[in-house]
Amino acid sequence: NMTNETLKAELGNASWKLLHTVLARYPVIPSTDQQSHLSNFITYFAKVYPCGDCARHFQQLLVKYPPQISTRSNAAIWGCHIHNLVNERLNKTIYNCNHIIEDYQCGCGEEEQPDQQ
Ligand code: FAD
Repeated sequence: NMTNETLKAELGNASWKLLHTVLARYPVIPSTDQQSHLSNFITYFAKVYPCGDCARHFQQLLVKYPPQISTRSNAAIWGCHIHNLVNERLNKTIYNCNHIIEDYQCGCGEEEQPDQQ
């Protein structure tokens, strides 16, 4: 029904916003620990995502397109591409990934990033 579709869309919006912002603010050159934190975050994000069909499908995408965690740029572009694959499946507009890092600011400034060790 309409209400459920609205709730699902709001959850999707908020979730993509968090994921893209995390990726766009990920360290430019991450340490090994930081890389493992991002890798784990994405794995568990996919596992706990509360829409079951979405989670199942997203986990399949992760197998086919493993998260790129080596640099901020690679991570942000990977996230943009995987969201586009979901867009494609849902017949939504494909997003232009050229300015993905500028598109997702956190309002916190580089110097205020948490210590991600
Ligand atoms: P959204 O796709 O929510 O995007 C929000 C905003 O992000 C857009 O308005 C645009 O400004 C921007 N954006 C769009 N594409 C990109 C991109 N590639 N990179 C960066 N920014 C972008 N719904 C289902 O019905 N079935 C599913 O299987 C499903 N799987 C999902 C899996 C995951 C992991 C997530 C997070 C959501 C999933 N959803 C699924 C929800 C779906 O993706 C949308 O969030 C929802 O349909 C609302 O769409 P929207 O048009 O508002 O834009």
